[in-house]
Parts: sequence; C-alpha cells; structure tokens
Amino acid sequence: MTTEATSAEMTDGFHLVIDALKLNGIDTIFGLPGIPITDLTRMAQGEGMRVISFRHEQHAGNAAAAAGFLTQKPGICLTVSAPGFLNGLTALSNATVNCFPMILISGSSEREIVDLQQGDYEEMDQLAIAKPLCKAAFRVLNAEDIGVGVARAIRAALSGRPGGVYLDLPAKLFAQTMDAAAGKASLIKVVDAAPRQIPAPDAVKRALDLLKGAKKPLILLGKGAAYAQADADIRALIEKTGIPYLPMSMAKGILPDTHEQSASAARSFVLPEADVVVLIGARLNWLLSHGKGKTWGGKDHKAWGGQKYIQIDISPQEADSNVATDAPLVGDIGSCVSALLAGIGSDWAKPPVEWTGAVAERKNKNVAKMAETLAKDPSPMNFQSALAVVRDIIKDNPEAILVNEGANALDFTRSIVDMYLPRKRLDVGTWGIMGIGMGFSVAAAVVTGKQVFAVEGDSAFGFSGMEVETICRYNLPVCVVVMNNNGVYRGTDVNQSGGKDVAPTVFVKGARYDMMMQAFGGVGVQAATPAELRAAMVEAVKSGKPTLINAIIDETAGTESGRITSLNPSAAKKK
Ligand code: ADP
Ligand code: MG
Repeated sequence: MTTEATSAEMTDGFHLVIDALKLNGIDTIFGLPGIPITDLTRMAQGEGMRVISFRHEQHAGNAAAAAGFLTQKPGICLTVSAPGFLNGLTALSNATVNCFPMILISGSSEREIVDLQQGDYEEMDQLAIAKPLCKAAFRVLNAEDIGVGVARAIRAALSGRPGGVYLDLPAKLFAQTMDAAAGKASLIKVVDAAPRQIPAPDAVKRALDLLKGAKKPLILLGKGAAYAQADADIRALIEKTGIPYLPMSMAKGILPDTHEQSASAARSFVLPEADVVVLIGARLNWLLSHGKGKTWGGKDHKAWGGQKYIQIDISPQEADSNVATDAPLVGDIGSCVSALLAGIGSDWAKPPVEWTGAVAERKNKNVAKMAETLAKDPSPMNFQSALAVVRDIIKDNPEAILVNEGANALDFTRSIVDMYLPRKRLDVGTWGIMGIGMGFSVAAAVVTGKQVFAVEGDSAFGFSGMEVETICRYNLPVCVVVMNNNGVYRGTDVNQSGGKDVAPTVFVKGARYDMMMQAFGGVGVQAATPAELRAAMVEAVKSGKPTLINAIIDETAGTESGRITSLNPSAAKKK
C-alpha cells in the first residue's frame, strides 16, 4: 500500500462506524446518547445523518424495527452499555419475532475487565446475552474490522427471513485511529443484501395443482407479504384467481379493505369452511389458532380442521410448523407470487359461486350489522362510536399511517378501521405486545413524512407515553388518540379485599392525557363525543402539529383481554 501520501490523514472508530452505515444507504439513527456513544451521535449528526434521540431505549428500538419494516433497510438503534442495551433488547427481540430487519448497536465496557468480572462501569457480557434473542450477533474489537462488522450485520438483518441483529462495539474501539485511506478501503458496500430466492418449478406446479382442485380456496396475507413490497403481483394473483382473501392485521391495505374479494368481515365463516388455504407471508401461529380447533372447523380445540395448505415463505423451516403443509413454496414472496401468476392462464377457473357467493352473503350480513353498531351514538362514547370517527378520517386520509395498540382499542380498531394502502398499519405484531405505540409513531413520521395516527388504549399508551416529548421535540405530525376508559381492559374493577388500594387494573379516573402533550408544547384536546373527536382529528391533519386527543370512553366498555380472552386463565374461567 502507498501509505506515504496519506499518512497524515487519520480516521477513528467513530467515523468508520458512521461511514460504514452511510456507505450502505443508512441515513437515520434512533437512539439515546450516553457513555460511550455520545460522541457517535454528535458526529453522525455532524456528518449529515438524522439522529433521533429518545427518552428510553425500548422506544428507540421499536422505532428502528418499524423503520426496517417500512423501508426494507435495517433500522438502527444505538444505545449505551448494560442498562441501555437491555432496554433496547426487548425491541430487538420483538423485531426478530416479527421478522423486521433492525440492528441494535450498543457500546460496551472493556472486554478484558468484563471477561475477568472485575467490576467495570456497566459491566455486562452483552454479546452473550443478545445472542439467543436475535438472529445474529457480532462484536468488533479492531477499527479495521468495522466495515466487515457492519456489512455482516446488514446482511444478517435483511437476507432470508429478516430479523434483529446485535452489534457490540466496546468503548475502546471508537477512539482507535487508523490511516484514513486504509480505513476507507476497509469499508464494505453490501451487494444484494436480500437476494431473491426463486421457488423451484416443481414446487410451483405442486401448489398450482392443489389450488386448481380447490372448491373453497382462501388466500391469507400476512405482514411478510406487506414487508415484501410485491403489492401489484399479490393484487393480480388475487384478482386473476378470484379467490377470497383474508389479511392479517398488518397486511390490511395491501389491497384496500373495501375490495370485493376481502373476506375480513366473514372471517369466522371462511376459516372453518375453506378447503385449500394459501398462506402468503403469514405464519400459522396463535394468531391463527395454529390451524386447529373450532376456528378451523376442527372437532375439538386441538383438532386439525382438514384444510390443505400452500405456504409461501422465505424460511424453509416454516412449513409443517403447526399442521401439515401440502405444498410449501419456499422463496421470496415477489418471486413466488409471480411464479404462480405465470401459471394462471386465461383458462383459469375461478372458484365456484357457491363459495364466493356464500362468503359475500356472510360478509354483507356482518357489514350491515357493524354499520348499525357504528351508527349508535351512546353517551359516554364506547369504542365503536369513537372508532367510527377514526374510520372516516382514515378513509379521507388513506396515506396516513395508523399505529395501534391496546386490548379492546386494538381489537375494535382492527375490525372497524379500513386501510386502503399497503404498509399503513403498524401494530402489536406477533407477540401482541404493549409499548410499541410512540416508537412506531416516531419512526413512521420520520421515514415517511406522512401524517401518523396512533390509536392507543390508555394502558398501552402508558408504556411509551414519555415519548410525546420526542414527538414534540422533532415536531412530528403525530396525532395520538388515547381511548381512555380509566384502566386496563376497563375501569370498573374493584379490590376484592375491600381494602383502600384500587384494583390492579384501575387507573386514576378522568386522567388528562391531553395535558401531557401540552406540557411539551403540542396540542392537547379532550373529546367526549364523536363530533369533538372528529373536529380534533381534522384539525390535527390540517395543522400537522403533535396532538394528543384524550377520548373519554365509557369505563364499562372493555372486555377482559379483548378478543384473546381464551388465553387469560382467569377470564376464561369466569366465562
Ligand atoms: P402475520 O403475523 O401477519 O401473520 P407473520 O409475521 O406471522 O405474519 O409471518 C410473516 C412471514 O413472512 C414469516 O414467516 C417470514 O418468514 C415471511 N417473510 C417475511 N419476508 C418475506 C419475504 N420477503 N418473502 C417471503 N417470506 C417472507
Ligand atoms: Mg383502558
């Protein structure tokens, strides 16, 4: 190497990390500064990256995960060592479960002290702890390896089934210096980080043959299908085949929920009745009752319903996970769907009208029933009357992103609020967790620049509520609607001992969540009626200002555990 000419120019670990990320098109960091990464956040901002600082690492991590889902680029979360790392780990683990690409980068203490357990500042063997909770974990000890470390992290996050990756950067690394030209040469621009995976022709034929013989076929779209950004082909497959489809919650909007082939409103009819089910980027996990039991027409709660399955998934291990998969189609969704499309000619026989007609009939009946419920105007508001407003607002603003968490606030929103465009709905995901609300909202606003609505149960909001300061600080167009029914599930529970403490599920009555937003200069509004809620949401869109609407909901309105009561031993017993 010709070092003479450049030897005066030096670089260091800080700059190499930033340069490696930028070289790979990563322009945003979600994080929380502190030892040893404070300067990294300053320098990244100085070098033109967007650095979004949070109040708690879990929300920075959730933001990174949502950014990964929305952009197909790994979202970056940057934290300090031990406690900051652990706070970020919940989000990393959740991202991995959801198949969202993200990289948690944490500073760490010195290896030689940590490994001898000599009691370093924030001592913790972070790499070992992260490993079982994410897709891959790496540590970089030398500045000249930063390029490789970042490249491996990006590849691991994006290739195959996407997921969370941990990158451990010990404090000492940042200050290491090296020749700038050699440093630059050590960086890697990742080529084809998510290679297409083309399904085998015989697997395509097997799937098509099975589908051709179906009398009551059904297509199930999952959030993998939304992530894959194969929207046009998925729509073409559904429309050309004429098969009814059911979107999982985050797949809503790949086709508009108002599409005539959507079977959402006939879910409990189509699942047990279908004979061949095509899973596209959806796992047959608890959210689909594992393909078993009464939901699927099984004789008892453990019995297979008799359906045959075609499963499109990038993970070859997903098939047979719960019930037998008759035609696994392993590959990326774009390639698999276009391969199926190629086999569907003009002679394709659409499903019998006995099937599509029955689905439509059930659906129309349920839609009419729902319209009746939504037209009611009870005082105080219930979930349905408030969500009828949200439904209209989303219809008028289909580009807006809807973040949604809670128990009842989640279940009702999912079924009432139609989505019209792909990747506009972000919610509690595979684990059904609380706490994603404000992190997802910040990410959605930052990466898309669009209006964000977060429909939050009052309990769910509490997990990330302090991030309203973050929303105000960056002046993001986020409108939070807190469905305030005074508690977890509802606000009417009583202390069974008759003692002075309120019941564990009850909050302060009449809490003014709207004032939290006001505290940081945003707009806070109370809404006691649908008209007030509508006016406040319309104004939020118009102003684009951070807004929190405290929607006062009947405290008797919720159901324990929402629609997953069967998983709650106490509520299931009471039933
Ligand atoms: P949902 O909860 O909406 O049903 P899941 O998270 O259970 O969705 O399923 C998503 C599935 O999509 C995972 O099994 C994952 O492997 C798969 N997947 C994600 N991205 C792709 C892709 N680009 N191509 C194919 N499959 C994908
Ligand atoms: Mg509540």
